Amino acid sequence: MTDDRVDLAITGARLWREDAPRDLFAQGGRFVDAPPGGAAAAERTIDAGGRLCVTGFLEPHIHLDKAQINDDVRPNASGTLDEAIEIIWARKRAYTVDEIAARAVRTIRSAVTHGVTRFRSHVDVDSIGGLRPLEGVLEARERTRDIADVQIVAFPQEGIFKDKGTHDLMWKAMEAGADLVGGMPFNEETREDSARHIALAFEIAAHHDADIDMHVDETDDPEARTLEILAEQTMAQGWQGRVTAGHTCALAGYEEDYANRVIGLVRDAGIHMIVNPATNLMLQGRGDAQPKRRGITRVKELLEAGVNVSCGQDCIRDPFYPFGRGDPLEVTFLASHAAHMSRPHEIETVFDMQTGAAARTMGLADYGAAPGCVADLVVIDAADPLQALTRRADRTHVIKRGRVVAETVTQRRTAWA
Ligand SMILES: [Zn+2]
Repeated sequence: MTDDRVDLAITGARLWREDAPRDLFAQGGRFVDAPPGGAAAAERTIDAGGRLCVTGFLEPHIHLDKAQINDDVRPNASGTLDEAIEIIWARKRAYTVDEIAARAVRTIRSAVTHGVTRFRSHVDVDSIGGLRPLEGVLEARERTRDIADVQIVAFPQEGIFKDKGTHDLMWKAMEAGADLVGGMPFNEETREDSARHIALAFEIAAHHDADIDMHVDETDDPEARTLEILAEQTMAQGWQGRVTAGHTCALAGYEEDYANRVIGLVRDAGIHMIVNPATNLMLQGRGDAQPKRRGITRVKELLEAGVNVSCGQDCIRDPFYPFGRGDPLEVTFLASHAAHMSRPHEIETVFDMQTGAAARTMGLADYGAAPGCVADLVVIDAADPLQALTRRADRTHVIKRGRVVAETVTQRRTAWA
């Protein structure tokens, strides 16, 4: 630092889980120690006024390539995952890189206004769209690099062996800039192919020294048992802590003994679990006679076992899910309902699912307010997580690398005082 000036001071920031407000300082995109002159040494000062602050909301599971395609596809009549995938085929054939990038940029900007500072996006890799979804999201990442960070997962939604050509495309996607190896092992013709699908992901991950993040058993069918294979392979390959499993809806339908065994394997393998309450409340359980399942994985049992559980938006206005705006308070609010998490400590845990827990999932060593961490900060117009979730409170300031990138203040006029 030269002449003890800093770019930004945030005064009266009450960081979540800290008792008292304090001042934070950013220089060169990172948090730094207080300069000798305090806030007077800052180019710009923001008064957080004792409001709740987090060092960025994180979106660990979103599909930026498919976001907002509902404007020009037919509605999903059955409301199922299978029909959603089919609807996208026709649209995907007509994809252009520019159009994907434009939708992804819009989606990123919307989420940033709600306080998301870092994303992990899956992009479809298959014989229909080729690498265009990846190229579109890479382009969007470039265009939004001053307001957000984006990790990209190469996601073989159509299967790897079921869809001819995807095997080679997965390798090419990693060469072309994808950060993580994805998967959808249940979407193969046979159990053997599901196992080969997972094995190939580890082979590619080893070659690129990359982490893995798969869509796992996103079905009501309790015979979908690829999570077990993923956990065993994670340990066999020494990839503990580097693997994430999203959705895992079938885990909710397993009989107790098997479910407990799989949860134990997931814990031992250090697999990060992501729950996607918006999409899966909408898609799952439709075929059940009453009582219908809630559609999400065993959140409480996983947490009790010591597994890291975060949550993500997944879909925004696509055939899988008609709503969504990338608001972490909306997603965690849904998670709280879907997982019966209503007690004070459970609400704190839910709030952690798109902050601290998501940072562990995404492997973010520079997340937090300590000097040296990336100077991302979200000021929330609330005193605590309960109030933030109750009101889906305004994010009054969203700061990315020490620069204010969005401000929101909702104004209301009433007939009473
Ligand atoms: Zn997904």
